[in-house]
Amino acid sequence: MEMDQFQRAADALRQDKFGEFAAEGLRVYPKSQADYAHVKLAMVKSGREKYLLAVGEGDLYRELEGEERGGFKLCRLTHENRLVLNRYFPYTKPRAFGTKTATIGLGDRLGIASPGHIKTVAGREVRPILAQQSIRELNLTGRDYNEVLDAACFAAFQEGYRDGFGADGDHLKREEDIRMALDLGFSMLTLDCSDHIDNSAAALTEAEAKARYGALPASVRTYFERTYAGKTFNVGGHAIAFDRESLPRMVLIYQKAIDFMLHIYNSYIKDAANEIDFEISIDETATPTDPAAHYLIASELYSRGVKVTSMAPRFCGEFQKGIDYIGDIRQFERELAVHAAIADHFGYKLSIHSGSDKFSVFPIIAEHTKGRFHVKTAGTNWLEAMRTVARVNPALYRRMHAYALEHFEEATAYYHVSADIGKVRPLSVTSDAELPDYMSENNARQLIHITYGILLQAKDESGRPLFKDELYATLSDHEDDYEGALIRHIGRHLELLGK
Ligand SMILES: [Zn+2]
Repeated sequence: MEMDQFQRAADALRQDKFGEFAAEGLRVYPKSQADYAHVKLAMVKSGREKYLLAVGEGDLYRELEGEERGGFKLCRLTHENRLVLNRYFPYTKPRAFGTKTATIGLGDRLGIASPGHIKTVAGREVRPILAQQSIRELNLTGRDYNEVLDAACFAAFQEGYRDGFGADGDHLKREEDIRMALDLGFSMLTLDCSDHIDNSAAALTEAEAKARYGALPASVRTYFERTYAGKTFNVGGHAIAFDRESLPRMVLIYQKAIDFMLHIYNSYIKDAANEIDFEISIDETATPTDPAAHYLIASELYSRGVKVTSMAPRFCGEFQKGIDYIGDIRQFERELAVHAAIADHFGYKLSIHSGSDKFSVFPIIAEHTKGRFHVKTAGTNWLEAMRTVARVNPALYRRMHAYALEHFEEATAYYHVSADIGKVRPLSVTSDAELPDYMSENNARQLIHITYGILLQAKDESGRPLFKDELYATLSDHEDDYEGALIRHIGRHLELLGK
């Protein structure tokens, strides 16, 4: 029976009727159809398993690994087959976008959100960074970079998305991780400089700062003083002033980080075989980034020949995971205007991290960056998955929610949130129909947001996953629901961002 369906789909593909093909129990992805020389290829899904279906003859057909079945080949979505697609269909491979194109990071912790993301961005003036994962996320989800890339590349193929997508080695700090990500084909590096930013210098007294600064080599001090002290730089109508009092502290905080950025650029980015979007992240710091410090870092990088695609300062207020901006919006706007002007002055994009659900500041970001930005989202895509689960499999949602409540404290070790779980409405008084509303309430959102790793890794006494398998099965059975949720939710992000 199953065999027949594949056979019939293969025949339809061969006769260029794949788009109209319909069969009980076999889902086809009409946009996936791709031809190369004498081979036709498309994606289908039987049960919960997706396959590539290949007909014809030639190198592409031979190189795909799969099961030969009387005139067609049925191929699993393996890593090797992904590499074959990358070789024959360049649109399935991540690419860099440079400084002129607005981009949105769409971290997909489960590896199933990208088709919905592609449908969301298609036709808009923004390009998706479909694969975007930090080492922390890899550890918490038990995935590796190849799996992350495979999922994104197959999604581009499934949707026949030819406008290009990126892959971001997010918040990488260690050279071995950077080398690995770039070797695997990541097209973007977000360099996390936090280990080289000396936050302790911010807390020094005036005298202590002076003493520590005095211990720096005279040549370093002379250089910075000659270049910045007492000077004011006009950046897009904003005056960036460096006084003699604050400069030493700024040098103490950022000097090692600048050397690190320079080292990574010269070692891995400058001469990379493929173009790489190079993002500098200085957002994981104790205090908001002083616009003058942002200017100094950029100026140092550009005077030493480094080209940056985007830079992520830390903004005032709080960018907590999965909820709207917390803080003084007018102050945010004033400071954002200066940060955006600095980015514009040097030519790179301003990057906004933890950009999930920051609806109240999106229009401000759109305006001051003139639409040239990178905005990262990740957790919100997981939350939409959970909203979908709440809607279509309430029993599973209830079990996961209860488990998350029990393990909330553990999760706060990984993420800083202000959620008060005492304020989360008890499950016992919440009807099934109301379960999706949890994902519209900040305390519950953050509860589910930060426990994703714990939920995915939870095991019963015999070592079987408590939720993971059922979660994937549910979302596979309801892939249209999940896509719809993403199109609505990320679509709202993009509309407010002016895209
Ligand atoms: Zn960040």
